[in-house]
Amino acid sequence: MAKQPMLKFVTVPRDMPEKREAAERNKDFDEIYAEYAAAKAEEQSGRCSQCGVPYCQSHCPLHNNIPDWLRLTATNRLEEAYEISQATNTFPEICGRICPQDRLCEGNCVIEKSGHGTVTIGAVEKYITDTAWEKGWVKPVTPAMEREESVGIIGAGPGGLAAADMLRRAGVQVTVYDRYDRGGGLMTYGIPGFKLEKDVVMRRIDQLEQSGVHFVMNCTVGEDITFADLRAKHDKVIIATGVYKTRELNQPGAEAGGIVRAIDYLTASNKASNFGDKVPEFESGELNARGKKVVVVGGGDTAMDCVRTAIRQGATSVKCLYRRDRANMPGSQREVANAEEEGVEFVWLSNPLSFTGDTVTGLTIQKMRLGAPDATGRQSPELIEGSDYAEDADLVIKALGFEAEDLPALWDQPELAVTRWGTIRAEFGTGKTSLDGVYAIGDIVRGASLVVWAIRDGRDCAAALLDDLTTAKAVAAE
Ligand SMILES: Cc1cc2nc3c(=O)[nH]c(=O)nc-3n(C[C@H](O)[C@H](O)[C@H](O)COP(=O)(O)OP(=O)(O)OC[C@H]3O[C@@H](n4cnc5c(N)ncnc54)[C@H](O)[C@@H]3O)c2cc1C
Ligand code: SF4
Repeated sequence: MAKQPMLKFVTVPRDMPEKREAAERNKDFDEIYAEYAAAKAEEQSGRCSQCGVPYCQSHCPLHNNIPDWLRLTATNRLEEAYEISQATNTFPEICGRICPQDRLCEGNCVIEKSGHGTVTIGAVEKYITDTAWEKGWVKPVTPAMEREESVGIIGAGPGGLAAADMLRRAGVQVTVYDRYDRGGGLMTYGIPGFKLEKDVVMRRIDQLEQSGVHFVMNCTVGEDITFADLRAKHDKVIIATGVYKTRELNQPGAEAGGIVRAIDYLTASNKASNFGDKVPEFESGELNARGKKVVVVGGGDTAMDCVRTAIRQGATSVKCLYRRDRANMPGSQREVANAEEEGVEFVWLSNPLSFTGDTVTGLTIQKMRLGAPDATGRQSPELIEGSDYAEDADLVIKALGFEAEDLPALWDQPELAVTRWGTIRAEFGTGKTSLDGVYAIGDIVRGASLVVWAIRDGRDCAAALLDDLTTAKAVAAE
């Protein structure tokens, strides 16, 4: 009788791929986890309990068919595992690396709930598609037929790229416009290399180019080309611009030099350290933590990326101030643990009161406690009177989150409806906006979110847009 390949969670403990020691990984910007060896991937996939109703799948924004690709991996049918995995996810190896699995698939794994430790879904997903790349199974798109309709996509982040991929598969002529010099959006210039190495993103862009997607880089819509011209040029337009307006500090002294935005800091680091670009603000030290006492304000993923980048740049100390406690922070607990291992000090329940110096030399910190829950049920931080103390700092990084830029004003499109948060108002599941033939996806609709949700939006929108193109063609033919 064949050996039972699955349900090994009682006898086989959870085992993540090897993690490099903090002292070693602090010296570079390479990813911190190694790849599974084939036998280990098979063994870990075999821990899946093959639930009839898989909660991992329903809590994955892409509804990935996780139990099936785990079973195929456990039985060494890797190419089929890859086919199933890529059928629902445009960039499985990227999600496997950077999804906050503890809040999504793995956090809802039934064997995790029963105390056996989750199946390492993300690590296996990464393993499957990294292997597929290695073996040459990941191929450029060759549409069965070319269509004459053209779609312009503004933004080469995960949302725009996922839509581009789906549309190209259907033979649509796709042009992606982006203000940056490289595609990938925040996957390239926001998320640091130690979470997502850049060649993983660049090979996807190369392959989309080989598939016939046309990229127009260094092109800011609203400056280098008007939104109206873009609409005139294409049958349909997708807005996938993300959110980049930084929430600012407004305490006294917050205008001082040396108090910088997280996105500027991370972009400079990604360009200089991952691509070897010349970045004057990095070389001058303005956006470089080397030899500095660094304070990062914020408790989300962006703050985690800043503190860990500062450690790698050679900061003398790195402190992270967050006004709530560890249990109530928005950032992934796994990333906090990684940051602590690497030498970051978290100062929970604390907030800056004021900053000193024309170029910052320090700040006064006030301590907080958690009070009564607010309307959302979240406990509000309250000030503890008389608890202020001074802290030295010569680089302060603002990582308080992002808001949408005012696109209707920037693009002179007053009819483009937005929500009260300034994000674009788009129909759920299709991305249709108030402008005819214009769709919107990703962070510019959801507010700062996740790569996996941008991919989901891009795929859903492409499907709806294809329906609209087909309907329009049928109507024209009548
Ligand atoms: C520091 C940081 C770390 C993160 N870490 C994670 C993580 O670990 N896991 C995770 O899932 N998510 C993470 N996120 C969130 C994730 O990166 C975003 O949710 C996701 O990238 C949104 O995709 P998008 O396609 O909507 O927009 P983006 O990725 O922001 O891409 C938008 C693109 O549009 C371009 N653009 C904007 N305006 C214009 C214009 N006018 N003309 C032309 N081009 C324009 C931009 O240059 C950019 O390339 C992180 C975000 C940040 C900031
Ligand atoms: S896409 Fe993200 S949430 Fe879905 S299975 Fe992969 S890692 Fe989990």
